[in-house]
Parts: sequence; C-alpha cells; structure tokens
Amino acid sequence: MSALPPCPKCNSEFTYEDGAQLVCPECAHEWSATAGEAADEGARVYRDSVGNILQDGDTVTVIKDLKLKGGGGTVKVGTKVKNIRLVDSDHDIDCKIEGFGAMSLKTEFVKKVV
Ligand SMILES: [Zn+2]
Repeated sequence: MSALPPCPKCNSEFTYEDGAQLVCPECAHEWSATAGEAADEGARVYRDSVGNILQDGDTVTVIKDLKLKGGGGTVKVGTKVKNIRLVDSDHDIDCKIEGFGAMSLKTEFVKKVV
C-alpha cells in the first residue's frame, strides 16, 4: 500500500480515506481518490517473475523446482502450466498440472509463455 496523497488544497499529510473519498482533517476538503490508478480499485494486477501481466487462461512455465507438500513430488523447472486462474491469495495462481492435479502456485515462480 502506498501512502495516501497529501491534501490538494492545503498539502496536509493527514488525509484519510472515507469510502471512495479522501478527506483532509485540517481544511475539511473532500475529494475523490479515483483519479488515476485507483480507478480500477479491487482489480489487482498480477505479474509474473519478470513483470509480464498475467491473465486468466494464460499459459506459464515454472521457473524453479517446486517441492509439493506431503511428499507429492516436485514440479520441475520448465513445467508448462496451461489455463491458469488468478486468485486473490498468497498463492495467487490456481491451476492444474498434468500428473499432479489441481494446485496453487505463486506468480513470482512462473513466467508467462507468449
Ligand atoms: Zn486540506
């Protein structure tokens, strides 16, 4: 999270969020926070290990060996993963890997196939 922008009127740094509005407690100025990047609030951008933007349905490759919990084997580097689904969690990719079944990966350990 980046810090909130200062008040555009009095430059106070003590601004706070009130719903979709930003409020300045010093001069009582209220303004919308939805200019610029906040416009698509809630729409998280997923990036792979090299910064490519990932989308549902993309194909990625695994960039390091990933040991599965419970002795389920290792997903080898270079494994291709098709039709990923992005989810808002710590392991932010839901996918199925042939031979392993459904699992979750982290975007930082994959690279998009373009
Ligand atoms: Zn102000």
